[in-house]
Amino acid sequence: MNKEKTTADWIAMRESLQISGDAFIQSDYQGAAGGETFQCVSPVDGSILADIASCTSVDVDTAVKAARNAFEQGSWHLTPPAKKKSVLNRIADLIEEHLEEFALLETLDMGKPINDSLTIDIPLSARTFRYYAEALDKVYGEVAPTHPAALALVQKEALGVIAAVVPWNFPLLMAAWKLAPALATGNSVILKPAEQSSLTAIKLAGLCAEAGIPEGVVQVLPGFGEETGQALGRHPDVDMVAFTGSTEVGKLFLRYSGESNMKRIALECGGKSPHIIFDDVKDLRAAATAAAFGIFFNQGEVCNAGSRLFVHTSVKDAVLEELLAWGKKLQPGDPLDPKTKMGAIVSAEQQQRILSYLEKGTAEGARPILTGGAVRKESGGFYVSPTVFDNVRNDMCIAQDEIFGPVLSVLSFDSEEDVIAVANDTIYGLAAALWTDDLSRAHRVSRALKAGTVWVNCFDHGDMTVPFGGFKQSGFGRDKSLHAMDKYTDYKTTWINIAR
Ligand code: NAP
Ligand code: MG
Repeated sequence: MNKEKTTADWIAMRESLQISGDAFIQSDYQGAAGGETFQCVSPVDGSILADIASCTSVDVDTAVKAARNAFEQGSWHLTPPAKKKSVLNRIADLIEEHLEEFALLETLDMGKPINDSLTIDIPLSARTFRYYAEALDKVYGEVAPTHPAALALVQKEALGVIAAVVPWNFPLLMAAWKLAPALATGNSVILKPAEQSSLTAIKLAGLCAEAGIPEGVVQVLPGFGEETGQALGRHPDVDMVAFTGSTEVGKLFLRYSGESNMKRIALECGGKSPHIIFDDVKDLRAAATAAAFGIFFNQGEVCNAGSRLFVHTSVKDAVLEELLAWGKKLQPGDPLDPKTKMGAIVSAEQQQRILSYLEKGTAEGARPILTGGAVRKESGGFYVSPTVFDNVRNDMCIAQDEIFGPVLSVLSFDSEEDVIAVANDTIYGLAAALWTDDLSRAHRVSRALKAGTVWVNCFDHGDMTVPFGGFKQSGFGRDKSLHAMDKYTDYKTTWINIAR
């Protein structure tokens, strides 16, 4: 039913869309204490969507106090599991009930195609809350095998006050990946959305309250990273920061922690994922299609994008032919058109950053075989069409830097040993993929690749049941799956002397 909406329907819906730019502090929507705001620009057409509250350390202090009070009073973490489960399930219900509104806000705010918002981002966000609602009363503590004169309980306890700092590429989904397991384990959470994409997080806060989340347990503080993000990172009464974003900012959070209260830090940072196609693959078409979607999906603004494509020399021509056909087909369109597969780049700044890499790649001597650039300028929005560079060397910046746009670097290889060494030659280790019809090779190579996720004969598959996160400078700690609950809890041993 939802999928049938036309571009005109979405435009009409936009006219009556309620957009709030307020922070959600304690239990209310409100402006920042200092009254400052910043403009929320839509990358779809450059229009101003809202004025967003620009929270400062004053707001952070207020929110942390409220979060701490809620935790110490036990208004959420001492709630019986069955009740917690029903509240988290209700949040999922409310996200689904507001599916179209959320989808439209997400598309207007960050530029992704409406069909992606509608069928991927928003439903998966609801699914995340449901998964942790279902999980929360299935996790048991332990009784340690001590000598008989003791009873030792090993229990996982909530940490207390969690700050979740998230990026703009999957705004609601990244927020859900943090909020749901942190809430399921009993914590209070303060969410700082990226300045480019605050709208769905703001909307979610009110729905959490409507679902029964008590005062101070979910608060949303929009603002700038250097101000709001840093104040959270340095706050002496925040117990943990769950961060998704760039490696550069991830390192800052480690510093903030070291210079304040040694709060725990979990980091989901960048990637430059190798996507390897061996010469034994029969279905090269499927591999090339996956390679195209692996870099062009979400305008290339994906942390695990397959941005380095390694193709065996003997199959390179066949793969590139199919890949280029996809690249030409996947041109940016109106994000509000349900048929659009590639939307707008999140901001003018990010668009410029991507375009600068097109120049750098050419200057470094790579060969552009599909030349992208700024397109749809008449819309007033920010769009970049797909670019493919051939003859890339792994030491070029287009092979090392996370561009976060629709730019693919193609490298060729002749041997398995060589491709493993070069694929691993990056500071990142978020994800990797390989295509082969040889079972032993599939196991051998996936074992050798240093990445948190390795896909074999597919790309970007997965669901809530598997952990997601990186090796090396892609960070540490995992989102999704039962393992995500670990990072929001810590072990407590209670040793009881039961000797007569
Ligand atoms: P970013 O610049 O690192 O920002 C991420 C968050 O950190 C934003 O909320 C940002 O706030 C905040 N921030 C920025 N500077 C800060 C500072 N000095 N102190 C404290 N907080 C600060 O990343 P982005 O450009 O939004 O997103 C793209 C990055 O996210 C890419 O590197 C991508 O790989 C990564 N990412 C990783 C994953 C994963 O799971 N591994 C998933 C998605 C994205 P403002 O934006 O308001 O400044
Ligand atoms: Mg925006």
